[in-house]
Amino acid sequence: KAKAEGRSTYHFFEAELDAALRRRRAIEAGLRGAIERNELHLAFQPLLGLEADRIACAEALLRWEFEGRTIAPDEFIPVAEETGLIVPIGAWVLRQACLVARDWPKHVRVAVNLSAVQFRSANLFSQVEAILAETGFDPTRLELEITESLLLAQNDQVLRTLHRLRSLGIRISMDDFGTGYSSLSYLRSFPFDKIKIDRSFMRGLATPGDSLAIIKAIIGLGKSLGMTTTAEGVETPEQLELMRANGCDEIQGFYFSKPVSAADFALLLATADASQKAGAHL
Ligand code: C2E
Ligand code: MG
Ligand code: MG
Ligand code: MG
Repeated sequence: KAKAEGRSTYHFFEAELDAALRRRRAIEAGLRGAIERNELHLAFQPLLGLEADRIACAEALLRWEFEGRTIAPDEFIPVAEETGLIVPIGAWVLRQACLVARDWPKHVRVAVNLSAVQFRSANLFSQVEAILAETGFDPTRLELEITESLLLAQNDQVLRTLHRLRSLGIRISMDDFGTGYSSLSYLRSFPFDKIKIDRSFMRGLATPGDSLAIIKAIIGLGKSLGMTTTAEGVETPEQLELMRANGCDEIQGFYFSKPVSAADFALLLATADASQKAGAHL
């Protein structure tokens, strides 16, 4: 009997594995034609500047309509990276983000995520330069977000590319800060313009622990290094006030706004602008 059970467990896992593999292959095949079929679009999530209490930036977040539903990047970005498809897709994201953000008020920037694979393959710098020229987008309104994993290799080529991008006036942000193995040392390897505090620290505020002490330390670190700090994953008014009280520069999270369509983001900007003007006349 034990043997029979063992066998059925084995078959169960085999079936699961099979389904996962099929899903992986379907995603890969679908992703190949996603740009041509117009299945990709961007959602925009505002970053609220706490000093002026106004939208300072929006992060472009990739969405994919596949087989009738919207797939989150966590499911398909890894596949895009493994297959190299992230290179054309990344270029599409940057071009689209610049085209959309061109119509926003000049003080609102756009942030685009870059994958480590984009640094390894193709000439990322020329690609970015070409897209800026083609769209006529002001590089000082562009932020590029990278994660700590990019700097893990301590690759000179990567650092050179980052410096060249920055020389165009582009801001470089360290995304999901505090989740890597040696977060602090990465801050020494490159003069980032912005540190985005990973949302796990915001979640950690709900339970006893050291999350607040760590958040305060990161904000202090940012100040002394001349880097802007953004708190990610702010979901409650209490968290927002806590970030304000501790001198965090910006917040991003569901409390202020979830990622929204380009059209809805334009509405959000218009509404915010109108209420600010109204406020100024009071
Ligand atoms: P990220 O760059 O850290 O983006 C922030 C993620 O946190 C987004 O998830 C956003 O929807 C989510 N988020 C924002 N506020 C809150 C909140 O208050 N609570 C919670 N629980 N979540 C919040 P999303 O859009 O699913 O993206 C996941 C990740 O996929 C991104 O993390 C980024 O690493 C990657 N990604 C998205 N778009 C692109 C892209 O165009 N290129 C590349 N290479 N990666 C991308
Ligand atoms: Mg990001
Ligand atoms: Mg992030
Ligand atoms: Mg993330």
